[in-house]
Amino acid sequence: MLKLDNHPSGRHFLQIPGPSPVPDRILRAISLPTIDHRGPEFGVLGRKVVAGMQQIFQTRHPVAIYPSSGTGAWEAALVNTLSPGDAVLMVETGHFATLWQKMAVKLGLEPEFLALPGNDEATGLPNAWRHGVPAALVEERLRKDTAHRIQAVCVVHNETSTGVTSDIAAVRRAIDAARHPALLMVDTISGLASADYRHDEWGVDVTISGSQKGLMLPPGIGFNALSPKALARSKQARMPRSYWGWDEIVEMSATGYWPYTPNTNLLYGLSEALDMLLEQGLPAVFARHQRWAGAVRAAVQAWGLPIQCADPAVYSPVLTGVITPRGVDADAVRRTIHERFDLSLGTGLGKIKGRMFRIGHLGDCNDLTLMATLAGVEMGLKLAGAPLAGSGVTAAMDHFSR
Ligand SMILES: *Cc1c(COP(=O)(O)O)cnc(C)c1O
Repeated sequence: MLKLDNHPSGRHFLQIPGPSPVPDRILRAISLPTIDHRGPEFGVLGRKVVAGMQQIFQTRHPVAIYPSSGTGAWEAALVNTLSPGDAVLMVETGHFATLWQKMAVKLGLEPEFLALPGNDEATGLPNAWRHGVPAALVEERLRKDTAHRIQAVCVVHNETSTGVTSDIAAVRRAIDAARHPALLMVDTISGLASADYRHDEWGVDVTISGSQKGLMLPPGIGFNALSPKALARSKQARMPRSYWGWDEIVEMSATGYWPYTPNTNLLYGLSEALDMLLEQGLPAVFARHQRWAGAVRAAVQAWGLPIQCADPAVYSPVLTGVITPRGVDADAVRRTIHERFDLSLGTGLGKIKGRMFRIGHLGDCNDLTLMATLAGVEMGLKLAGAPLAGSGVTAAMDHFSR
């Protein structure tokens, strides 16, 4: 066992935006004995989790479930729909969008990386990393592609590196307004089951997700939600694929089974998570995350620190990025908070490393665990010598007791 001598008592506060804290009810479900993945009980479990995930994605179409991380599900989306050398339009919204774009290059695709230009004057940080997908720029670019070389538009719904969401329905409207046949592929690895997401209604062709964020599970399950158009496109797509191939997975999992050994115990956990989420109802789940996010933002604003997301219309309900004052290293603040208060916060990634940290408000949280989190952050900022305008803890209490 990992030994934490300096923290002998109480629970660790895992307030990173994934993996999120796992509810005890789910951990207990995962601890049940592993069963035969070809046996009769397994089929019941398999059919239940596929049908439940259709409800979570808000789709009537197939959902492929992989024993993989979210990165695997990204790869599955690309290799099932595209052919070597295909042009794809990706949008730079942060670190995860950048990783997906790098993957496309490694796979032999030709991604074009669209980004809002320039840096923000007050913070010096890239505008593209403080705003959502600029749908107008997507439309403008697609209109110029009169030969329809671009095969897919790939965007991130909840950019976990920044705490900015994107309006996916607006991206769909942009593609339609340009009368462009490109597929729409959306990563909502950290948005699903925390932020409202509608695969069918928003006209998404492939939605990518993972288990360890809003679904409140440990890492290890990847998802692709499909559209009929994506399935049709996969018949012509020539990227090599075997493990990721939708054809066998979709056909077999309709009966509750997989072409290879699925992660049985994590699927017990998924079944439990689905019960919890669907018993509560998705609107209540989304409202709970909005309430938490509102309290965290009230705290950050009371401290007088800028929020990484510069557009209040697209604040993430899942996490909040906090920009530290110039000269205050965000990672040093995180280190202090971890050492003194046994609280983990998300590090700044990529182009914003050291300038900001992230507070996750997802998974097994409640109003009081978030109050404790904000108290830990406030104390850590004071220890790091960051000048604060006021008490974020008081502002968050006011938010929760309103
Ligand atoms: C976590 C995350 C990923 C990567 O998922 P892994 O499970 O770490 O492979 C990709 N995109 C977004 C938006 C994420 O939050």
